[in-house]
Order: sequence, then C-alpha cells, then structure tokens
Amino acid sequence: MKSHTRVAVIGGGVVGCSVLYHLTKAGWTDVVLIERDQLTSGSTWHAAGGFHTLNGDPNVAKLQGYTIGLYDELERITGQSCGLHRSGGLLLADTPERMEWLKMAHARARYLGLETSLLTPSEAKQLLPLIEEKYFVGAMLDAADGNLDPYGTTHAYAKAAKMAGAEIYLKTPVTALARRSNGTWDVVTTEGTINAEHVVNAGGLWAREVGRMVGIELPVLAMEHMYLVTDDMPEVIEFNRERGHELPHAIDFKAEIYMRQERKGMVLGTYERACVPWSPRTTPWDFGAQLLEPDIDRIAPSLEIGYEHFPAMARAGIRRVVNGPFTFSPDGNPLVGPVQGRPGFWCACAVMAGFSQGGGVGLALSQWMVNGDPGFDVWAMDVARYGPWATRSYTNEKVRENYSRRFSIRFPNEELPAARPQQTTALYDVMLAAGAVMGDSWGLETPLWFAPPGVEPRDVVSFHRSNDFPHVKAECLGVRNAVGVTEIANFAKYEISGPGAEGYLSRLMTNRMPKVGRIVLTPMLNPAGKLIGDFTIARATPERFLVWGSSQAQIYHMRWFEAHLPDDGSVRLHRFDMGLVGLSIAGPRSRELLARLTDEDVSGTALRFMDHRAMDVANCPARVNRVTYTGDLGYEIWVAPEYQRRLYEKIRSAGQDLGLVHFGMRALLSLRLEKNFPTWYRELRPIYGAFEAGLDRFVDLGKPDFIGREAALAEKATGGKLRRVSFAVDASDADVLGDEPIWHAGKVIGWITSGGYGHYVDRSLAQGYIPTSLAEDLRQGAFEIEILGDRRNASILSEPLFDPAGARMRM
Ligand SMILES: Cc1cc2nc3c(=O)[nH]c(=O)nc-3n(C[C@H](O)[C@H](O)[C@H](O)COP(=O)(O)OP(=O)(O)OC[C@H]3O[C@@H](n4cnc5c(N)ncnc54)[C@H](O)[C@@H]3O)c2cc1C
Repeated sequence: MKSHTRVAVIGGGVVGCSVLYHLTKAGWTDVVLIERDQLTSGSTWHAAGGFHTLNGDPNVAKLQGYTIGLYDELERITGQSCGLHRSGGLLLADTPERMEWLKMAHARARYLGLETSLLTPSEAKQLLPLIEEKYFVGAMLDAADGNLDPYGTTHAYAKAAKMAGAEIYLKTPVTALARRSNGTWDVVTTEGTINAEHVVNAGGLWAREVGRMVGIELPVLAMEHMYLVTDDMPEVIEFNRERGHELPHAIDFKAEIYMRQERKGMVLGTYERACVPWSPRTTPWDFGAQLLEPDIDRIAPSLEIGYEHFPAMARAGIRRVVNGPFTFSPDGNPLVGPVQGRPGFWCACAVMAGFSQGGGVGLALSQWMVNGDPGFDVWAMDVARYGPWATRSYTNEKVRENYSRRFSIRFPNEELPAARPQQTTALYDVMLAAGAVMGDSWGLETPLWFAPPGVEPRDVVSFHRSNDFPHVKAECLGVRNAVGVTEIANFAKYEISGPGAEGYLSRLMTNRMPKVGRIVLTPMLNPAGKLIGDFTIARATPERFLVWGSSQAQIYHMRWFEAHLPDDGSVRLHRFDMGLVGLSIAGPRSRELLARLTDEDVSGTALRFMDHRAMDVANCPARVNRVTYTGDLGYEIWVAPEYQRRLYEKIRSAGQDLGLVHFGMRALLSLRLEKNFPTWYRELRPIYGAFEAGLDRFVDLGKPDFIGREAALAEKATGGKLRRVSFAVDASDADVLGDEPIWHAGKVIGWITSGGYGHYVDRSLAQGYIPTSLAEDLRQGAFEIEILGDRRNASILSEPLFDPAGARMRM
C-alpha cells in the first residue's frame, strides 16, 4: 500500500468504483480505493440490476439518464461486459390521479431530453401481454429502462479506473480516520496507514460506521428488500419466440412492485408497506456474502394485487427469493458532497438505486473535488440538505415511510406524516388552535394555511386547486386590504461579526454591504457565476451583521461560509437556528399595528423601507426589519424564542380592530408571485446566473473583488443564455406547480420553476426560464405551458401585476 494519496475512496461497491473511475476521468489519477473484503461485497452483489430514469427531482432524473448512457462507454473502454439488457419499461397507472402524475412525468421528460410516451391500457398490453388490462387506466413507456449485471458493471468501473492509474486494495478494512493539523487525513487500515488529502465515504451498508469515524451520524438506514425469481414461464418463452426480444420492465404503482424478465422467467420485487429496517443502529462488520431470511408473508399483500394484475405470475413457480439490505436517506435520494465541519471528508452514500444513480454520483463528486463545484445542480442529493434534527430515530421513521411509498404519488400539497412534529416553536399550539394546517419546513412545523371556524384543518391532496383555495384567498386579501401576521421562524439566520466581517461578506456577496441601520438584498455566487445563495443582510453595528437566508440551505451555506473564513480570527460566524424566531406583519395597516406596540417613531421617515432597528416591541427586546416578501408595507420582528409568545399575543390583541388576519406559507408564496419575486430553490439555484435570474440590481460590479465577479461580468456582457420570466397563464382548475415544459412556436424551449394562483390579482401565475432571445416576445398567448397534459396559453408579464412601481413597500 502507498503511504500517501490524493484521494482514498472507502468502499468497493458500485458507487465507490464509479467515484474512483470518475476521479481518474477528471484527471486525478493518484487515487486509491480501499475495500474491506471483495468488490461488490456490500449491497451491490445481490441487486436486481434494474435501471431507469424516473425520479421526483428533475436534476436527479437527468443524472440517472447520464448513468444509463455511461455503460456503453465503460464496456468500450474496458472490454468488460456490463450484461446490459435495454428492454424499455412501462409505468402502469391504475387511477386517473396516477395517470395525471405520469402525464406530468412525461411532460417533464420532454425538457430533460428523455424519451417517454403515454399509452392506453391496450397499447401497454401489446408491449407486455402479461398484464390484465382492466386494472389499468394507462401507462408511460420509458425507452431508457433496462437491467444489467451488478458484478460485471462494478468491475467495469474498477477496471476503467485501474487502466487510468488508480489502485485498489482488497481485504483491507478501514478501522479509523484521523485528521492531521495540515488538514490531510490518516486512513488507518488493518494493512497499514495511508495519508490522503481527501477521503470519500462510499461505505454503502457501513456508511454510518465510516461517518462515525469522523464523529458524525449520517441520516442513512438499510432496509430489507425482497425480490423473487420465477421458474421458466411459458408466456415469457412464447413472447421471446414471437417478438424476438425480451419483455419490457414494469412498475405497478398500485401493487408497489417492479418486474422484469430474468432468463425465461421473471423477477418481481416489492416495496411493501410492512417494511423492516435492517441493523438499525450498527451494521455488523462480518456481514457480507450472506442473504437475509425471506419473509413472504410480509410481501403477500403486494403479491396478491400483483397476481391479479399479472395472472401468469400467479401460475409461475418461485425458483428463489432474495432478501438483502440496502440503504436509504430519509427522502430516498443519495447523500453526496463535502461534509460541513469536516474539510476533506466527502460522502457518496445512501445510493438506493446504484445502477441508475451511481454514474451521476461519481460524476458530481469528482467534478466537485477537482473543480470545487459539481458543475450542475445536485441540491436534491447534497448531504447538506439535512440538519441536526435528522437524528437516527428520525431517519428510521422517515426511511420506513419513504420505502413503503416508493411508488406512491406525492401530491404537490401533500405533507407526509412520519416523524412529525419534529421541531415546534412556542406558538405551535396557538397556531393549531387558530386552525393552522402545518407543513414541514426543514424539520420545523410551519403554518401553511388557516382553516376558519367550522372548516376542517386538513388538506385534500390533489394536482388541482384544492380545499385550501378559498381560505388562502381570504388570507391574501386580508393582507392586501388590511394587515396579516405570519410566523417566520423557519428562515435561516446568522450573525457574522468581528473586524473582518465587512470585508469577508463583501467578498462572498455580490452587493455592497449596508450602512449601520440599513438592509441590503444580495445574491451569492460561486466562481462560475452561478447562484449559490440569496440573502437579506442588516448591519446592526459597524462590525456586526445579521444575515437571513433560506432555511433549507443552512448547512449548505455554513459549509461555504466556513470554507471562506479567514484564518486570522477576524470574523466570527454564528448560526442562530431556533435561537432567533420571528413574526412578520404585512399589509397597509401594519405600520399602525407596529406603532401600537412600541414607543419608537415608526413613521415612514423614521423607519424607512430597508431600515433595520433594535427596539422594544410589546416589551420584548426585538430587531425589526422593514421588509416583507409579500411586496406590501411590512415588518419582520425578530426576538429570542422566550419572547415569541408574548409578542404574538400582543400583536393579536393590538391588531383586532385593524382587521388582522393570520396568513401562512401558501398565502406568502402567492403574494410573492404577484410581485414576480423569485424564491431560493425554485427560481434561484446553482444552474442560473444572477443576470439570468433578473437580480441585476443586487450585483454591484463596481466592487473590485467578489467571488464570481469575472463570470458575472461576462454574463452581463453576453446577456446570459436564459432569462427568468413571469407568466400569466390561462389555467382552469389546476395551476402550474413547477417543472412543467414551456412551449413556443410548437417547440419546448424552457421550463417552469414555480407557479400558483395570485389571489389578489385573480390570475394564475408562473415563473420559469426561457432562452434570452425569446424574453422580449410579449405577445398575448405567445407561449404555452403544459399543465397535466394540456397546453395552456401563457403570456409574459413585463412587470408585476401587483404594485409594479413598488409604492406599497415604500409607503
Ligand atoms: C435485493 C436488492 C435488490 C436491489 N435491486 C436494485 C436494482 O434493481 N437496481 C438498482 O439500481 N439498485 C438495486 N439495489 C440497490 C443497490 O444494491 C445499491 O444501490 C448499491 O449496491 C449501493 O452501492 P454502494 O456502493 O453504495 O454500497 P455497497 O454495495 O454496500 O458497497 C459498500 C462497500 O464498502 C465497503 N466498506 C464499507 N466500510 C468499509 C471500511 N470501513 N473499509 C473498507 N471497505 C468498507 C463494503 O465492504 C462494501 O463493499 C438492490 C439492493 C438489494 C438489496
């Protein structure tokens, strides 16, 4: 074994081998892979080997497409067969709702460049005669689906990496990891110690244990998973003989099963509701080549439905049942990227579909390590998307929920119940008593909307406008016509202080830092000029800044902030988490309301738009920002959690005769659409530049030095490829949700980032990205947006429908 390497990848499953190969492909050849036993000896060897592009997140779906396309390249480079069967696959819908979901997936596939088509049940039966047509309302064909040989594929990755110079050490368990003072890692193994600049945790079934070696508890859990292999089936033999090719794969949503041909029979796997975690606390180090005891009773309910839907399967004998463990994160997507607080320690784990995702994970991680950025949008699988609230028992509950819903539809207004409530503010019970329907926002219960007396506080899940519609409308009108109050505890909040704070923030952010008592809005860019953050920054004192951002991105941003901290101690960084909570009041009467709660002068001249003040509000020591995301006159009032209840009660009583209403996240998102305001994670993501996103006025190119300045200058000079635009949409009973294709002159030219109903302006609204050259096409109905399979006319809004001059915010 070498004594030093640039990268030590721990784990020789399909993921570790893919990372190793991609590192060599990106130009780093002084890299090693360390494997406890043999290649594939974790979950990889007993995989069913299926691959497909279907994923709830379009960016992950794209990476799956990349993975599937890679196998030909691997075979070509190495001469090692991956055992590919590119048979295509059918997704079978048994209800109109599932068919609507497929229509959405099909529409999205158009702009992802994936090849899908929608079929009637009889067309589906033509392709897969095993199905009982009467149980289905339609299907989608995905041409990219297929299956492969897990062993051959893993070895092909390994061989390609070795051909480029990588080394692989088998039978070499890593037993400890220690960080040296120079930032490198000592990787201690039973065969000696190797010093590495970077370590990658691709430990699969043992990823938790490898994480614990550096003092972290990763949110990952293995589940038992069963599939059965049938005896030879006459129906399969006949089909192969007649058609000269294999049967396509199938996913049956109702039965929660997947199927594919295996030799002259079929493989049938289930994601059963009565699912069982495996080794919930610690994975035994001596686990390897063995399988788990099958438990057919557990999967019997799925099999019963499957046998009705595919009668030939009921007649087939079962040759063998495989029960093996593999890992999941709470949302089912991988955990990839650098770990906050552990520089040089990277994750490539919780990959539940190694043969659909392994290539994409390897590509993203290698680019991230070599170039400092994954090169595309990997937010949906970034390890930083989880916070400290994702504990082991939380993970256990969520993974079981996710597993048992693997093929279930998640409706856009559906909040999943497992592991909730996890975090609550002091107002939780008060909000529930006021009729709040709660949602989960980064582990925190947050009011979505309020059911008035007599209305059940519950969402009816749907792709269409639902039961919350009139009540969210009432909240929006309440804000626009008088005043509303909402909880904003779910924002991210940081304090950045010290003599170096201004210089530090100025280098990270595109905008000039504010004067004391003032606020600026500012994007944050990576060196390639792409958006990696969007913040509100207030200056409390010359050396003290308060920073607000997206709650979901807190660990993602902390990772970036820490990586850029000067090492002279001149900057202090603090994440408040729930140590600072808030309430926002918004609407034309919000000033009157604030004035009743404080003896400070809050007139329009004393407390101007974008002012920040420390003041007593309702006896509570508070910090007030004169900003609101509603686009109306409004204030954010920030207090320590012990004051939140008092503050709320005083707002309620002082606001009664002003027409005060509660409003939740759904009303807030609707109100911001009326102002064409973008939101982080939807419109603002690391695939867009600041000018493309229309954030021009928050980028101060006059500043001599900030990260991404060169790229931003170039983008401004060329105008950027894309442009964020807002649309008014001729919708009927379903609004745009996000990820729908945008059509222009009969072609798909862009995609939607978010949408909904603008209740005050009474229009269906959307935002999305289109080529810059089309952004001037302001003709009525010049565009179409595909909603649930229907193309609806859409027109660009050149200015916000609500208060285009911004007078209300400034009044
Ligand atoms: C029954 C079943 C069916 C499946 N079907 C499919 C399918 O059809 N399609 C699909 O895409 N996926 C399928 N999967 C999932 C697939 O197997 C996983 O996504 C994939 O194996 C994950 O690979 P990995 O490299 O992350 O982990 P693993 O395969 O678990 O590899 C991790 C490796 O790390 C090594 N390791 C761990 N700790 C150390 C250490 N300290 N020192 C040295 N080495 C270490 C282990 O020995 C192991 O070899 C299935 C899984 C099961 C169980």
